[in-house]
Amino acid sequence: MIVILKPDVRKESPEVRQLLSVAARYPGVSAQVREITGATRTLTEVYLIGSTTVVPTEPFEELECVERVVRVSEKYRMIGRHHGQVEAVGFQYQGLTFDQETLHVAPGLCAVDTRGNVEAMFRALRDAGITTTRMGAYKPRTSPYDFQGLGRDCLPFVFELAGKYGIKVVAMEVTHESHIDEINTALDATGGATGVMLQIGTRNAQNFELLKFVGQQHRFPVLFKRGMGITLEESLNACEYVASEGNTQIILCLRGMKTNLGDPHRNFVDFAHVPVVKRLTRLPVGVDPSHSVGRKELAPDGLTDVHHATAQGIIAGANLVLVDFHPRPGEALCDGPQALTIEELKPYLEDIALVRECYLKRKAAIERAARAA
Ligand code: PEP
Ligand code: MN
Repeated sequence: MIVILKPDVRKESPEVRQLLSVAARYPGVSAQVREITGATRTLTEVYLIGSTTVVPTEPFEELECVERVVRVSEKYRMIGRHHGQVEAVGFQYQGLTFDQETLHVAPGLCAVDTRGNVEAMFRALRDAGITTTRMGAYKPRTSPYDFQGLGRDCLPFVFELAGKYGIKVVAMEVTHESHIDEINTALDATGGATGVMLQIGTRNAQNFELLKFVGQQHRFPVLFKRGMGITLEESLNACEYVASEGNTQIILCLRGMKTNLGDPHRNFVDFAHVPVVKRLTRLPVGVDPSHSVGRKELAPDGLTDVHHATAQGIIAGANLVLVDFHPRPGEALCDGPQALTIEELKPYLEDIALVRECYLKRKAAIERAARAA
């Protein structure tokens, strides 16, 4: 059961204490208070957990501070929308708003290799007015003989250069809890030059201990990649592990599903699920066209498969595009065939702007039609 409080009732207020004393009347029920800072307002919610089926809603609804009480049935009670009964307020990080309305593009290297390539990438992003990026330091690879990423050795120059070029958020995969300590240490050494979004890769989508660990820390938001070979429901439950540990600053990123039916793409593009995840959860939804299609091949219309998949995600309402770029894809140590080049950045962003404008116009037209009906 979720008790949603009226706007601007804060977590520490006497009203919340009174509500908790009402909750304490019911044996086997525990309460967790969550304050969510969204773009336009701060929302306080009290989650009643345990045997709540016998708990009546009226004693809570009667309280002055309560807006409404929602009974939840889905297993993912923290991230769920519960049939539209709770808002998708999103979150703010590094002065940026991440929610179901905004769109951020995070182009960057699949795997950090040289300082020069990182700097070339960041310079191009700054020139294009982009402040979000991806940089892989810890790479989970299918073969133990493949490049495993530079790990903590590259963090000092990645964070220092990010600060230099005004990058606010670096999405970076972690595959072990020790990586978060290493990121904390390296970031502190630069005086917090940038921000980091901890990426949980598709291969770790059900690494429950790692999910709990990133959920227990509050410094960094989490970018959760959908599990490539599990159901959507299973991925949502995995996200719930993060949220249930206390961190609700999560973006769910679609990245294609593993099935040979998707050939010749690396994965079967699943971006038609963007609106589905927005309906089912409160999370902003990202797409990763690079890892979905896996190859930057040209279609006869002159657009690459990466451009087409990006557009499919955006026209479906995606809130984040995580995309591989490399100054010299032929020399990339990981996923070169799917990387766009620095020269392709500006036209790619212009293409995104076109599709986004179209999406917003479609949304406005539907809203107008609904108002007129
Ligand atoms: C990545 O984004 O670098 C990556 C490995 O993605 P995924 O976990 O989706 O394969
Ligand atoms: Mn990759």
